[in-house]
Amino acid sequence: MEFATRLIHPGKEIDPVTGASSVPIFLASTYHHASLDEPPAFDYARSGNPTRAALEEAAAQLEGGAAAFAFSSGMAAIASVLMLFSAGDHLIASEDVYGGTYRLLTTVLARLGIATTFVDTTDPERVAAAVRPNTKALYIETPSNPTLKITDLRAMVAIARRHGLLTIVDNTFLTPYRQRPLELGCDIVVHSATKFLSGHSDVVAGLAVVRDPELGRRLYAVQNAVGAVLGVQDSWLLLRGLKTLKVRLDQAERTAAQLAAWLKTHPAVQRVYYPGLSDHPGHATHRAQATGDGAVLAFDLGSAEAVRRFVQAVRLPLVAVSLGAVESILTYPARMSHAAMPSEVRRARGIGDGLLRLSVGLEALEDLQADLAQALEATSAALPQR
Ligand SMILES: *Cc1c(COP(=O)(O)O)cnc(C)c1O
Repeated sequence: MEFATRLIHPGKEIDPVTGASSVPIFLASTYHHASLDEPPAFDYARSGNPTRAALEEAAAQLEGGAAAFAFSSGMAAIASVLMLFSAGDHLIASEDVYGGTYRLLTTVLARLGIATTFVDTTDPERVAAAVRPNTKALYIETPSNPTLKITDLRAMVAIARRHGLLTIVDNTFLTPYRQRPLELGCDIVVHSATKFLSGHSDVVAGLAVVRDPELGRRLYAVQNAVGAVLGVQDSWLLLRGLKTLKVRLDQAERTAAQLAAWLKTHPAVQRVYYPGLSDHPGHATHRAQATGDGAVLAFDLGSAEAVRRFVQAVRLPLVAVSLGAVESILTYPARMSHAAMPSEVRRARGIGDGLLRLSVGLEALEDLQADLAQALEATSAALPQR
């Protein structure tokens, strides 16, 4: 069945006991053992919960995986996946991974004896050159944040297979609607379901989906042992959000593409980053591995002063961290998501003081464009005349 249909009919959408149209929220923490010889399907809610299980089944099915696991945040999902590794192991990660992932790898994992080399994964040769005898996995984000760099997932799988590594992909920006790394041979997909999957800025949640059942058993053992599981009410909210994923993303993506094209022509904008633009460095690779360009773009206004004026003038977008919601969200990476990065490193990665990231929401294109236009006008009007 088509993705749109599978979102609405993931398999457990009708409650078998009552026929209810949505999966009930099972708040029980523990379950009766009717017989001591046969343990019940669910016995304790950390180990398994019917509402969470319905979400996990839906996620596995949508990503094309053997099993999925829901966690209390995207970082909890990522941390639990990384607990598959042991002291002495080495990982290779995209140099512009999500800030929280960078922090986890360089502080907690490093302290536990798991080393990471950060490389520009847009260049497969650099990835291959970074492989060591103790390397166990490639950890990839594509498109990356905030300049939307594209890594060739098939090339990563080829390197991984040559060296017996796992390939882990953070698919938060595109969701399984637009990119399914497991179908390209990757092993694990992780999500901050806080973003597009739930879609309404009202849930913090994470998912991990695996291609292989044996890997699924290993990850289930970590989920159950560590216990960073998603709460049952949030599992339900995420199940609800998922139903509208396609219509939300279709709409937001259409608006994002039009805004990106328009921003490119605006004199106050120095540069636009969006994988759908034909001159985006990863455009062809992106189109070969994803079925859409997503609803996140970034643009450079050239200076911190221009950004300050722009952010003061803009009315519709929320000025905040996070992305993937019904409302547009404007993020200033230099002060928000990448504030902890030394400024030379930040600038060298194209994250200058004038860069803004826009996660496009469901507002009308006309209103968003008019709002951005008046804010851009305020920006240039206030700058010294040349
Ligand atoms: C937000 C985000 C995360 C972390 O997820 P949380 O739900 O905030 O813990 C990881 N990866 C990416 C790409 C993100 O945008």
